[in-house]
Amino acid sequence: MPREAVADTHPLDEVLRSDRLPHIWCPGCGLGTVLGCFARAMLASGIPLDRQVVVSGIGCTGRAAGYLNVDGFHTTHGRAIPFATGLVIANPELVVTVFSGDGDLVAIGGNHLIHAARRNVDLNVICVNNFNYGMTGGQLGPTTPQGAITTTSPYGFHEDPFNLPRLLAACGAVFVARWTCLHVRQLEATMLRALRKRGFRFIEVLAPCPVGFGRPNDLGEGIDEMWFYRRQADYDPRAALEMLALSMRKDSKILCGVFVDTERPTYMDRYREHVLRKVQGGGPHEA
Ligand code: SF4
Repeated sequence: MPREAVADTHPLDEVLRSDRLPHIWCPGCGLGTVLGCFARAMLASGIPLDRQVVVSGIGCTGRAAGYLNVDGFHTTHGRAIPFATGLVIANPELVVTVFSGDGDLVAIGGNHLIHAARRNVDLNVICVNNFNYGMTGGQLGPTTPQGAITTTSPYGFHEDPFNLPRLLAACGAVFVARWTCLHVRQLEATMLRALRKRGFRFIEVLAPCPVGFGRPNDLGEGIDEMWFYRRQADYDPRAALEMLALSMRKDSKILCGVFVDTERPTYMDRYREHVLRKVQGGGPHEA
């Protein structure tokens, strides 16, 4: 009698909370692919899992923290960055990743995002960008492309969206990258680099949300958006930040890659070297 081909183990058993499965994400959603890349990067980093922490905000992407077998926090809307900042300041030995969506991080959380980058807080930030608020019904958000149809822009969105890699680079992030969730190998390798680096690291991942964004904008199902990325995405290691405009039009390229990889003192480096030295040296008024 043929034996059933069922494996007892999975390579990600150590890092996934399989007791939380099945997950809530829709068929064709890109979030599972991005989570898989991150889970593999976490293992490949060699950083003990009890030193890794994941913080999420609200929305479909915000569920990611709950599926990973490390200390994880599902925080209030827009507050993943300040929560994570508190963690890493309290215990700088932790490697803290904020894993959240465009609406949570860049709309209500936008102010926290830009100031954490300016301060170079030691955080790894993964922003899954699907151009809308998927969980709450497909409303427009700060990254919705101009002209896009959403439930709150039925005649087409008329504003200019944020360009996240340019925004974060301008704020001072020391590592800035963009991939789509079609680029699993590149994305995993980039996540690994980011995990091993210090300072404010930012990775934008473009991912299908067929329910909220793909269907109303003629991108179709998740697999159709993957084909779109295959046709439109381009890797250019010499691409300048000025070239990173992001449109979902069929006549426009989507540039991917690592655009910033530099070093500067982190928030805690500055705090230790400047503030503590001043205080220990006689108080804040000492010249
Ligand atoms: S609503 Fe969109 S982002 Fe949310 S799980 Fe479904 S496809 Fe994914």
